[in-house]
Amino acid sequence: MPTLINGQTTLATNAIQEYHDANVTPERHEHGSNGPVYVATPSSTGRRYPLREKLAQAWKENNVEPLRGLDGNAGCPVGLAELAENRRRGLRQLASSVYPLDGVHVLTNTLVKHILIEESATTSSQPTAVGIETANGEQYLGGEIIAAAGSYRTPQLLMLSGIGPSEILNGLDIPVVLENPEVGRNLSDHLQLTQYWRLKDPSAGYAFGSPSFPNHPEYALGLPVDWMVTTDIPKNGLAEAIAADREQPASSQSSHPLLRSERSVMEHLVVYVAASAADPAIVHDGSAFPRHRDWQSTHRRRDAARWVRTYGARL
Ligand SMILES: Cc1cc2nc3c(=O)[nH]c(=O)nc-3n(C[C@H](O)[C@H](O)[C@H](O)COP(=O)(O)OP(=O)(O)OC[C@H]3O[C@@H](n4cnc5c(N)ncnc54)[C@H](O)[C@@H]3O)c2cc1C
Repeated sequence: MPTLINGQTTLATNAIQEYHDANVTPERHEHGSNGPVYVATPSSTGRRYPLREKLAQAWKENNVEPLRGLDGNAGCPVGLAELAENRRRGLRQLASSVYPLDGVHVLTNTLVKHILIEESATTSSQPTAVGIETANGEQYLGGEIIAAAGSYRTPQLLMLSGIGPSEILNGLDIPVVLENPEVGRNLSDHLQLTQYWRLKDPSAGYAFGSPSFPNHPEYALGLPVDWMVTTDIPKNGLAEAIAADREQPASSQSSHPLLRSERSVMEHLVVYVAASAADPAIVHDGSAFPRHRDWQSTHRRRDAARWVRTYGARL
């Protein structure tokens, strides 16, 4: 069943925990299920990798619970979800292939200076975004203004337009159009660390290069990964780290955005292959770390060729 990711980016000015709402379900339109952008999971493509059940059990023993419907995009991502990838029949879909820009006037190399905002006529109504002004002073008006300048630049653009925390705007002599203290305060980023594991028994078939690794054609329909696991980190250590950074005095720590709610801090994926075709850090059957230069280059060439044949064009 294809799943639609909501393609529209809207002004996200609320605190992020409102988006990490465990009660949000696809039925409440967090995301749809019948649009042109396809999302593939191991289940939707019939991919069951050798350690699927054992990994789920290991996470459970570490108090990581499965998310409802194993869906990491239905509210709160913290927990165990199936890996979801934008793919159709194994191939990535370019946005332009499903949303053609026919009839759309696209301006390239054009910097938006600020959003044009019409002040409300009455005190009870909100100001309305009516257009944008570019860096060279041109103005474009529109019925609906969507700010989609990325995680860093969208809050910047809002603040340049007078939407944001008044103490910051006042300090920069930007007239406050709409006071919103949350703008720019809720970036949630996650770490990525790569670890390579040498297998105790490479013949068991738990690595892509092992001769006994299952050779199922459906494995070509996505990355060799079962689960996307998102975890928080212990609040005590985090509070100490924030205090050490002297970002906030200890007395106001509980209001720090990182401490206020459950946050996605780490994403964990167990991949059945050393991921870099060009420079594999481990032999693809998981048996050893390459050490000797000649041995290493022979294996690298062979394994890299095999990886590229199977997955390379699909990344
Ligand atoms: C290293 C890295 C790895 C990632 N890996 C993944 C992944 O594996 N899977 C995944 O789902 N997501 C991944 N992401 C996240 C994903 O890339 C973003 O969530 C996504 O690109 C956000 O799309 P967007 O359209 O909101 O913003 P962006 O793609 O950031 O687009 C914003 C655009 O606005 C333009 N812009 C900014 N300011 C202005 C201005 N004032 N005027 C005009 N234009 C402006 C920028 O130049 C940019 O082109 C990754 C991100 C990074 C950085």
